[in-house]
Amino acid sequence: MRRINAAVYLLLLTIAVAAHAAPMQTLKIYHIGVGQGDCTFIIAKKEQSRKAPIVVSALIDVGSGPIVRAGRDPALLWAALLQIMGENSVPTINYLILSHLDEDHMGAAEGLLYVLERPNFKKYAKGMIVVDRGWLDPSTKPTGTIYTGFEGRFGTGKPWRRKKIDVKENLFDGYFDNMKMWCVAANGVSLQPRNGDPTKWNRRVLVPSGSLNENDRCYGFLIEFDGFRYFTAGDMTGYDVDSQHNIELGFSDFLTQCMQRAQPSDGNCHVCCLKVNHHGSINSTNPDFVTATKPRLAVFSSGLQMFSNGRLPQQAVATRLRTNNAACSFFYTYCPTNIADPYDGTVQDNDPLFFTDQLDRWQDIVVSVSRPSANLVANRLYGDDITMKVQACYRDRSTFARTSNLRDLPDVVCSKKHPAP
Ligand SMILES: [Zn+2]
Ligand SMILES: [Zn+2]
Repeated sequence: MRRINAAVYLLLLTIAVAAHAAPMQTLKIYHIGVGQGDCTFIIAKKEQSRKAPIVVSALIDVGSGPIVRAGRDPALLWAALLQIMGENSVPTINYLILSHLDEDHMGAAEGLLYVLERPNFKKYAKGMIVVDRGWLDPSTKPTGTIYTGFEGRFGTGKPWRRKKIDVKENLFDGYFDNMKMWCVAANGVSLQPRNGDPTKWNRRVLVPSGSLNENDRCYGFLIEFDGFRYFTAGDMTGYDVDSQHNIELGFSDFLTQCMQRAQPSDGNCHVCCLKVNHHGSINSTNPDFVTATKPRLAVFSSGLQMFSNGRLPQQAVATRLRTNNAACSFFYTYCPTNIADPYDGTVQDNDPLFFTDQLDRWQDIVVSVSRPSANLVANRLYGDDITMKVQACYRDRSTFARTSNLRDLPDVVCSKKHPAP
């Protein structure tokens, strides 16, 4: 009897040690609190038992906010990025992507490249690929100093290079077999089934190039990690208004015509996490887009700035998200005074704190999903539930430094179907 107990104990201990030491595969998405603007740092990592981990990092947009207003001091942004790279053992930034060429997305791009050219920091940008839509469509690139200054940072001797990308390109290609970061919108083009086959896609031109507004041109990326899906698309618009166009239509149709039909068992095709388009502008996140995407978790990257006679995000957008998709949790890259901590994303969309009050701090919202990285199909992120770990930290609005440690908020569980292909 004692022998059996000892054997059971040893077995349990072995399992516990193995579970603790099991290499993990993780997708971590930092929505950095830059105020009005976007700055999203995506870190995909696969730990391996006897080899170095595979790490791919992609920075989408660099915000502006204090970084530009405080004399374009790019060191503030770089310090924040370096801290995040340090805590995740990220050796280099693999991709720098500008969703489009508006200041609240690319304002700090020139400054960041300037810092990354310094001898101490060059190693962090070694081999970095820079993606911007002006490079794809040079006839339409802006002529202002923000863009020309950025373009001046390319040439011989630089550690980075530019690359043209178009819809269908997968930036994680060659790194992971079960993670994809693919471009599904660019310069007013999306994807549609080829000859009615939902598993093969053609370019779909939504608006002729000559009529495109800057927001219409946004890059959109769909990130898939087994059954988990995340969508981010800068300031993509969902209505034909103010010279902008309904570009969301392209992704809504793509999800229902391709993703849904390619996996008929996916009765609840959706994206688990959404970076809300255009900071929650009233002209984005149309009801059809909400119905198609059905996000379980939505992140508003905003700073309550006045825009078109309303603050961003606009309350009506939160109401739209809830009306068409009741079980949605909301997180914001700013934080009003007096909000209960830890905030769990369940605040009602009529809560004036989030839409009309003074904000007193910015915050990073970090969403991550993980699974053991051993190649066991049973351990993949399929089935009914996917747990999204959510963390947050506050940032000072002028120094951009963290004023709190990254702390855990309650997990958000997506219980929609995530069927294996
Ligand atoms: Zn914007
Ligand atoms: Zn989901």
